[in-house]
Amino acid sequence: MIPTFSYPAPATWAGLQQRAATAETATVAGRVRRIFEQVQQQGDQALRALALELDGASLTALQVSPAEFDEAVAVVPAALQAAIRQAYANIKAFHAAQNQPEPVVETMPGVRCWRRAVPVQRVGLYIPGGTAPLFSTLLMLGVPARLAGCPEVVVCSPPQADGRISPVILFVARLLGIDQVVKAGGAQAIAALALGTDTVPAVDKIFGPGNRYVTAAKQLAAAEYGVGIDLPAGPSEVLVIADATANAAFVAADLLSQAEHGADSQVVLLTDSAPLLDRVQAELQTQLATLPRQEVAAQALAASRAILLRDADQMLTYSNQYAPEHLILAVAEPETLAARVTNAGSVFLGHLTPEAVGDYASGTNHTLPTGGYARQYSGVSLDSFVKKITFQTLSRTGLQQLGPVVEAMAEAEGLAAHARAVSIRRAQLGEAGQESAGSSFSLEQLIRPSLRQMQPYSSARDEFEGLAPVMLDANENSLASVGGADFRRYPDPQQRAIKQALAQLKQVSADQIFLGNGSDEAIDLLLRLSCTPGQDAIVLCPPTYGMYEVAARLNDVRVERLPLTPDFQLPADAARLLAGSRAKVLFLCSPNNPTGNLLAREAMEDILNSFNGLVVVDEAYADYADAPSWITRLHEFPNLVVLQTFSKAWGLAGLRLGVAYAAPALISYLNIIKPPYNISASTQQLALQALADAPRLAALLAATLRERTWLSEQLAALPLIEHVFPSDANFLLVRVRTDATAVYQQLQQYGIVVRNRSTQPGCAGCLRITVGTAEENRQVVAALQQIGEVKPAVPEPATFPSEYKN
Ligand SMILES: *Cc1c(COP(=O)(O)O)cnc(C)c1O
Repeated sequence: MIPTFSYPAPATWAGLQQRAATAETATVAGRVRRIFEQVQQQGDQALRALALELDGASLTALQVSPAEFDEAVAVVPAALQAAIRQAYANIKAFHAAQNQPEPVVETMPGVRCWRRAVPVQRVGLYIPGGTAPLFSTLLMLGVPARLAGCPEVVVCSPPQADGRISPVILFVARLLGIDQVVKAGGAQAIAALALGTDTVPAVDKIFGPGNRYVTAAKQLAAAEYGVGIDLPAGPSEVLVIADATANAAFVAADLLSQAEHGADSQVVLLTDSAPLLDRVQAELQTQLATLPRQEVAAQALAASRAILLRDADQMLTYSNQYAPEHLILAVAEPETLAARVTNAGSVFLGHLTPEAVGDYASGTNHTLPTGGYARQYSGVSLDSFVKKITFQTLSRTGLQQLGPVVEAMAEAEGLAAHARAVSIRRAQLGEAGQESAGSSFSLEQLIRPSLRQMQPYSSARDEFEGLAPVMLDANENSLASVGGADFRRYPDPQQRAIKQALAQLKQVSADQIFLGNGSDEAIDLLLRLSCTPGQDAIVLCPPTYGMYEVAARLNDVRVERLPLTPDFQLPADAARLLAGSRAKVLFLCSPNNPTGNLLAREAMEDILNSFNGLVVVDEAYADYADAPSWITRLHEFPNLVVLQTFSKAWGLAGLRLGVAYAAPALISYLNIIKPPYNISASTQQLALQALADAPRLAALLAATLRERTWLSEQLAALPLIEHVFPSDANFLLVRVRTDATAVYQQLQQYGIVVRNRSTQPGCAGCLRITVGTAEENRQVVAALQQIGEVKPAVPEPATFPSEYKN
């Protein structure tokens, strides 16, 4: 029976709302402090000693071994595994949706600010074990930790007396891909996570519930060791608001499900129906008798309250004052009440929604604020595992506009150095002279009107990550297989795995990445997205890569030209000229093909600031150049697209995989217009392998750069060669002294194919030679040597490999 209070005066509510005092005793604090000292001095040794003393477990290795994982997974019943998988999927879906990319906000012209979520680097999850191993807590903490991308996740859980960890906990850890599980419980586990031992790495933030000792240890870790903790923990609570429509048996079951947690659990029933209250009390009697943990539950009930109030308003006011961890609205119209909830950890609406579903499997997190902390704290979520770092950058315009504001405020606060940090920069800008008007790029304007509202082709795979046991959505042929390889399925249309790996590698977020069937597809789609056929134009800076113009012709898009200077740089007035252009897209290739040089960064920056269309910086060769990628500047320029490719430095031209990096809003448009499955399964597979093998790229690069130096020196020394242009790419542009086309044809007779670029503007007499293998480079040098000798001799019959590719 719950003690009942009928229509208490509001003035007396505060007394009723008092939680049982949980003031932690001095003995607990003292004991915890001694445990910290012991762990600090003896490390793992202390963990073993305390496991023996407190858990009765004699341990050698503290870390759970792969064999223990295997054994554990084998003994978890299939039905429980299936239930856990369903809960996992729900929790993952709910928490994944919390990852909302935030826009870059231009607070004033030229003042851009944004936020990026960066995972807490090292997190420790404490999972209580013993009689009731809380594997559900591991799901609730592990899922958001993985989604947030925390690089190091350590789980501590107390060993059973036989020295093992509960098999279900290990099953869940494996499901989550967590392999660091340490057999340590209680305050000593928290001490180890805060201080670090040989086995347990010190972490930045500790999560998880526990008894008084664990709670006191977390507080000590936070107060004295600079470790973050999830929430102030206390006994669990539920408050049920029930009206005359409530089912007394359901309400009683909910109250008991909380009461069985512990004798100190708080259970509160508010109702405006005296008959319901009587029925609930009777139900409690009946149901309690059949509970295995009835003693615990009865104690909790005796310290709890059932309160009869006048109406819904009073019940809601009471509940908001109490700020329960769990709030159940067992009323006819729960939505109306829910809208007025101001303090609660998690709310359960309607007669069919028990708290238990949120405890395990609906998707919401069960780690929630107790003890009235729901007034100011939220429960654990994806946000608990990240820091949101703010970034900002000012262009010249930004500094000019914001500078006076900051100067005025800094001077008024008497902080002269603050004011000077601004004025010293503005003074220099003044000297630098006139300022560009600034780009007025707008993505909405850029997109072809007919595509602005377009719906993408959608497949069921866009909504479903991974493969279900039975996939009957795409008319694939489930009977086929090729040479042992399994290509029956359409590939992931969103290429999530590659994007994730690339995001890591390039330090961008996955929604800034578009993958094309070669950069060529990205080029084509960028044109199709922005240019109305027969109407719009793009700008090229010749000599440059030929595909830009081909793509324009294919799409019936006009080409405007802004030729490079004789030394292959952007003309000095490029930014000014382009500021007045109505063209939709400008292509800048840097390092440029076929000239091999990087374009000057300042000139590119001025153009990005002045051109109103998209600026596509093609970095197909960027890996060979000793200059930072423009990817690092994406946040500054909403009109910037950076193209890279797996075809060059990665040595994977056969994969046909190109990458466009840009603002998420632009990328999502590309995803709408792309062919649904544009990256083949085999390409995805191999690209992932390559991405996992960073040393391979470094080795390839080093070898090519060595060869480029050698080839460049050799060619420069040949009489036939007038000039070897400096190169930041994996090819060399050379000017020959005789007719370039003739030399090009003569080389073919040696079985050597190079690229004749002599008809390109500014490239008269020029051939483009790719840096090949040492042997290939030796051959091209030898051939050019011979061709350069006075009488071109008839060469030996060509002996070249049967599979010859250019
Ligand atoms: C080779 C090259 C590419 C690569 O295109 P893919 O379609 O990715 O192979 C892109 N841009 C330039 C300038 C190139 O030279």
